[in-house]
Amino acid sequence: MKIKQELKEEVAGATRLFWEKGLTPGSDAGDTSLRDIETGLIYICPRPRPNVLRIPNWGVIKAEHIVVIDPDGKVVDDSGLLPTVEAPMHRAIYKARPDVNAVVHSHAIWSSAFAATGKNIPLILAEQSLHLGGEVICAAYGKVASKEIARNVVAALGKDKMAALMQNHGAVALGVNFEEAFIVSDFLEKGAQVALLGGLLGPLIVRKPSEILDESLR
Ligand SMILES: [Zn+2]
Repeated sequence: MKIKQELKEEVAGATRLFWEKGLTPGSDAGDTSLRDIETGLIYICPRPRPNVLRIPNWGVIKAEHIVVIDPDGKVVDDSGLLPTVEAPMHRAIYKARPDVNAVVHSHAIWSSAFAATGKNIPLILAEQSLHLGGEVICAAYGKVASKEIARNVVAALGKDKMAALMQNHGAVALGVNFEEAFIVSDFLEKGAQVALLGGLLGPLIVRKPSEILDESLR
């Protein structure tokens, strides 16, 4: 199947942006991927390994580091690199969600605070309903790279949520493309921050999805 250099460039660029935005503290802590709608192939961050691939942080990643896998996880390019250990989770998300073509898996501060306590991020701002699909669910715990983490994250996302938390780990933000996935990721981080700060002022006013949009806009 045709491997597209421009999609490798796109994932490398998105991963550098991912680091610049502070969504990951270095490398091998969070990753991104993109599905080619045409071929179904997945372009994904590599697995840093001593003596094979040393990347001090995702801020310096290049297109040559991006790995291409098929939906079953088989590496189909000749980079000689392995995909990130969380590739099974990325694959499971794409399999369950045909509407999604980009995944940003972050280890960012504010959403990690919720992930560390196993708490959902409640629907407290209108934007969360519009961009995240409402309340963000914290997926049940699964070990790094396990089948459980993939299954639990897919369950927390359901059919239409665009973000989920990963207990004791991080978060995922989804989009039809990277542009959308980063918007989701930004609103996810902001929602977690406001929920934490707002909670210090008093009880949060939690809304139902049906209370957000005026009938005239539906
Ligand atoms: Zn991770």
